[in-house]
Amino acid sequence: MEISKGVEMLHLDFHGSIIHPILLWDGEIAVLIDTGFPGQFEDLRMAMEKVGVSLDRLKVVILTHQDVDHIGTLPEILQECGNNIKVYAHELDKPYIQGEISLIKDAHLENPTRGKVDHTLTDGQELPFGGRIQIIHTPGHTPGHISLYLKQSKTLIAGDSMYSVNGNLGGIHVPTTPDMNAARLSLKKFLEYDISSVVCYHGGISDVNVNEQILRLSQQ
Ligand SMILES: [Zn+2]
Repeated sequence: MEISKGVEMLHLDFHGSIIHPILLWDGEIAVLIDTGFPGQFEDLRMAMEKVGVSLDRLKVVILTHQDVDHIGTLPEILQECGNNIKVYAHELDKPYIQGEISLIKDAHLENPTRGKVDHTLTDGQELPFGGRIQIIHTPGHTPGHISLYLKQSKTLIAGDSMYSVNGNLGGIHVPTTPDMNAARLSLKKFLEYDISSVVCYHGGISDVNVNEQILRLSQQ
């Protein structure tokens, strides 16, 4: 689903539950935000091709955090695209993503997904992709969780800092959030932004009165 020009919310089906990586592209460069579960590489490739972006245009992967449903196809992407791909993530989740430490929530995985992170991101940092992206460090769900604010379209890519159901923001997903205090403070950070639409990785897009919805959630 197209959020705005060059911003596409992908739909990947994992045994009936839908997740939403985001694809940005302008000219020849495509940027992927989050990569799906292990085993979804072909689904991802097809989802990209469906919107006219072939895998060889992918130059940047940004990971909102270390969870396995976000980093799952990274090894295959790296294998397929080699060193052409630069991977961005927050410093605090980098060692997990690189397999130096067991994943916080999937430590039981026998073969942890090993990726690489080329560039670490910090709170407030701007990236030049997709009409400028502002990085918002939003810990709680994981220590290095980031959200992304797309300045041009006023879109908040919330990752797993919030979930949504049928277009309504549901706030913090308590069962998967080890540090609720941090997560509540992270939610308050969104109040500084003028947001037209929010994309939650689990739940998809919300675009009705989202600033009011976030204000209400942050007061709970
Ligand atoms: Zn997660």
